[in-house]
Amino acid sequence: MCAIEAGKRGRRVTVLERADRIGKKILISGGGHCNFTNLYCRAENFLSRNPHFAKSLLARYTPADFIAMVEKHRIPYHEKTLGQLFCDRSARDITNMLENECQSHGVQILVNRAPREIRRTSEFIVSTENDEFRAPALVIATGGLSIPKIGATAFGYEVARQFGLKVQAIRPALVPLVLAADDRARYCDLAGVSAEVVASSDHHNFREKMLITHRGLSGPAILQVSSYWAAGTPLFIDLALGREMTTVLRSGKARNTAALRSAIREILPNRFADRWLQLHAPDAWTNQGLAELERQLHKWIVVPAGTEGYEKAEVTAGGVDTDELSAKTMESRRVPGLYFIGEVVDVTGHLGGFNFQWAWSSGVAAGQAV
Ligand SMILES: Cc1cc2nc3c(=O)[nH]c(=O)nc-3n(C[C@H](O)[C@H](O)[C@H](O)COP(=O)(O)OP(=O)(O)OC[C@H]3O[C@@H](n4cnc5c(N)ncnc54)[C@H](O)[C@@H]3O)c2cc1C
Repeated sequence: MCAIEAGKRGRRVTVLERADRIGKKILISGGGHCNFTNLYCRAENFLSRNPHFAKSLLARYTPADFIAMVEKHRIPYHEKTLGQLFCDRSARDITNMLENECQSHGVQILVNRAPREIRRTSEFIVSTENDEFRAPALVIATGGLSIPKIGATAFGYEVARQFGLKVQAIRPALVPLVLAADDRARYCDLAGVSAEVVASSDHHNFREKMLITHRGLSGPAILQVSSYWAAGTPLFIDLALGREMTTVLRSGKARNTAALRSAIREILPNRFADRWLQLHAPDAWTNQGLAELERQLHKWIVVPAGTEGYEKAEVTAGGVDTDELSAKTMESRRVPGLYFIGEVVDVTGHLGGFNFQWAWSSGVAAGQAV
């Protein structure tokens, strides 16, 4: 997006791509259909040490702007849920669109070119194995560390440090969580079972599906909350959204496991309902005992042992500190001509097309300035 925008302004642009093709992450995104933006994109959908940083950039290049480009290229798309837009056919439509736009605006894309060294004299000098490139402006768009097997590198963070820019601690985000051994033994044979829940961490709540996996918990609710989760802290999971499951038992005569099981089976898949009840049977069939069980249903406390790491994370949270960058152009305040855009910056979106929108918006801003 940066290259296209700069190309439109008549700049001579070369994209150096380490992999054998551009946009590999786009190709695997959204289950191969690329959730390329979200209709309801707001600053609240992003994590950053400075939550205001992304506001003006996101307002200047909006989901509607990207949709206009998608429509110009006649790419069929649909809204799935919660404003998430996906390609009907394949994510390849998006990479083709970007490549065509690059071509139309004279952008040169060179693949299999990994920069080895960057120097700065009166201009930037980037050396690869066989070539040297010189330019008055250098834009780092190397993404985060997630999915190392398709070529993610720490290069962007290293360049930031080389030029003395602060980097906020990085961590895997939008990532499945691993349960501690005792909870794994209790629940993980139920792998594949899912339920709609509200998952909370650090006062952030997400109402979506939770999935039990062979090692822990995943599904959109858990991925979302993982971005806010800090090691050693608990997750709170409401399993009975907006419902009082024990009222009937408390008002009636049948106060027993069978009655409670059938109540909980109304809200959770049978196997999970039965297991949960087995592990949280009330101490006594008194009003107090049932009230305590009700409380636990709305606040199931789980302390994960960790995350599945960068191999499974959709994004990397943290990154180049936004204090180092202009919120208008993404240019370094310390090093004129050096820009950072996309995921390498300390702006991380929620699940649902927000990370691509950030990549597009920050890319366009830099492209209009280089
Ligand atoms: C499985 C998966 C699914 C996802 N699905 C979605 C989704 O549906 N919607 C959404 O909004 N977000 C999604 N994301 C997140 C989204 O893909 C990223 O946030 C986004 O691609 C970041 O864009 P970027 O341009 O900053 O970095 P990237 O897309 O990661 O691009 C960085 C590029 O730089 C290249 N590179 C890396 N190091 C070097 C180097 N040293 N030299 C030269 N080139 C280098 C890489 O090969 C890559 O081509 C998903 C992520 C994953 C892992």
